[in-house]
Amino acid sequence: MIKATVICGGSAVYRYDETGKVPSRKFLNDHGGVVDVKTFNTPGEYDAYSMGLADADGWEETALTDKEFTTKKDKSTDCKLCNTWRDIFRDRSRDVYCPDCGKLIIHPDDANQVASDTAL
Ligand SMILES: [Zn+2]
Repeated sequence: MIKATVICGGSAVYRYDETGKVPSRKFLNDHGGVVDVKTFNTPGEYDAYSMGLADADGWEETALTDKEFTTKKDKSTDCKLCNTWRDIFRDRSRDVYCPDCGKLIIHPDDANQVASDTAL
């Protein structure tokens, strides 16, 4: 588990840059901004959050869309429950999507195709 503090808001970040200290609640009340402690289960989660903050920096609005899994049978994109659902639904003859994260976890057509791992 990784713990990190995120500071949002121009005055609050400037204050942090100046003092090296996380702005107090009083400072935030007077000047605006938010301080929040985040926890991450893996370094990858931390890196992803960090990249998201960096990309959104300076923009008033951002949107994240067109999510897709680009590699089939890539277990690294499983949520905590993908494997559990895969076991429960393993005898299904149709596509099954994880009820928790929406990932395609069973795709019966693939099982009979030799080259399926190299497909999109
Ligand atoms: Zn899942």
